[in-house]
Amino acid sequence: ALVVRHRMRSSGKWARAMAILQDFEDKCGTPIGKLRQVADAMTVEMHAGLASEGGSKLKMIISYVDNLPSGDEKGLFYALDLGGTNFRVLRVQLGGTDKRVVDQEFDEVSIPPHLMTGSSEALFDYIATALKKFVATEGEGLHPASGRQRELGFTFSFPVRQVSISSGTLIKWTKGFNIEDTVGQDVVGELTKAIEKVGLDMRVSALVNDTIGTLAGGRYYDRDVIAAVILGTGTNAAYVERAHAIPKWHGLLPKSGDMVINMEWGNFRSSHLPLTEYDQALDAESLNPGEQIFEKTISGMYLGDIVRRVLCRMAEEAEFFGDTVPPKLKIPFILRTPDMSAMHHDTSSDLRVVGSKLKDVLEISNTSLKMRKVIVEVCDIVATRGARLSAAGIFGILKKLGRDTIKDGEKQKAVIALDGGLYEHYSKFSSCMESTLKELLGEEVADNIVIQHSNDGSGIGAALLAASHSQYLGVDES
Ligand code: BGC
Ligand code: MG
Repeated sequence: ALVVRHRMRSSGKWARAMAILQDFEDKCGTPIGKLRQVADAMTVEMHAGLASEGGSKLKMIISYVDNLPSGDEKGLFYALDLGGTNFRVLRVQLGGTDKRVVDQEFDEVSIPPHLMTGSSEALFDYIATALKKFVATEGEGLHPASGRQRELGFTFSFPVRQVSISSGTLIKWTKGFNIEDTVGQDVVGELTKAIEKVGLDMRVSALVNDTIGTLAGGRYYDRDVIAAVILGTGTNAAYVERAHAIPKWHGLLPKSGDMVINMEWGNFRSSHLPLTEYDQALDAESLNPGEQIFEKTISGMYLGDIVRRVLCRMAEEAEFFGDTVPPKLKIPFILRTPDMSAMHHDTSSDLRVVGSKLKDVLEISNTSLKMRKVIVEVCDIVATRGARLSAAGIFGILKKLGRDTIKDGEKQKAVIALDGGLYEHYSKFSSCMESTLKELLGEEVADNIVIQHSNDGSGIGAALLAASHSQYLGVDES
């Protein structure tokens, strides 16, 4: 009788765990009708954000990029790409229309975590020092024309109120960064101060978001690129808008008629978003509560932690991992999205990778196959919601541009440049995103829309924009 009672008790626990899982799955649901509502809300907010400053949660930032690379950019340019846990420095020799990128060299430097939440000065000093080291490796072949100051495109992947192509003030930090004294400052001013301090002679010619850099880098190789999306630590999109469709733009109408917009879609939110109590708790405990809600359901910084939160609830309320809650499971961000991705992609029959991740990351051992399957299911629910919501976002942009239908039987190809670690490395996420976009567009329209991986396009893109805004433009190389 004892044995039977024990079994009944544990099956009661299992049922409770399954109820938590089912409830989570229900709340994360993204049926196609809901995705259409999300996309419609996105286009509504796009209009509102373009109409007036502060008119929407979507900032729809005017980038001052009204001319995308044409291919004839020439000379040696630098780029600096800051936005995640690493920053990159890049040197590229542009050879003009026929030669394009003649040569490039780069270096990647990781940012010590304490600098992400320290002082502005310490962060920019660190960056400038690394930049100076990189400049010192300029080879014989790869240096600027004599007598010319070095020029840099600065990719800064945070919301910036752009004042010109080469200046702008930080609106707020996102992702893992939180440095109070940078907010409201001109980030080019901050960088320039640090560059001067280390004794480097270099001018920042362009300040761009990573989405803008990716769009520029994509356009350099393909004329049909109209938008760029980043799915990485954070998420965001940029696209080419008609300048006359931007009521809040009071400047001159650019010759091209175009203006690239940095949407900052990570801050999108809508009552149509399928949010759960886990999302609410994650948001409340984050560095930026109430902000970047779309980003918190989609991007690489957060997906693993949503999974952790669901598992934690199952441990607490259904003794999913035994009669105590594994202590590591309570540590925020301990389960990273790459770990989640590895578990989600586990194809072994005994889900060995899931087992070893649980052991190595969370110090949970002796999990049954049945339990591992549940964990994979949690990963699947979280990734699927994120992927389908990002597809809805892209569909929203295409709707805004009227590219969601075929006009007068005219088939016009459009390319969207994609980059970011989540897109690049989490293949179940990217394939779900792409198939959902097809589903939303319908077969006929989907034939004209191409998703193109733009590998680290943002660095090259920034260098290209530095070239097209060079102080030496029109001056002959001597
Ligand atoms: C930032 C954006 C950036 C995106 C992707 C977001 O957190 O607000 O500016 O483009 O991350 O890096
Ligand atoms: Mg890459």
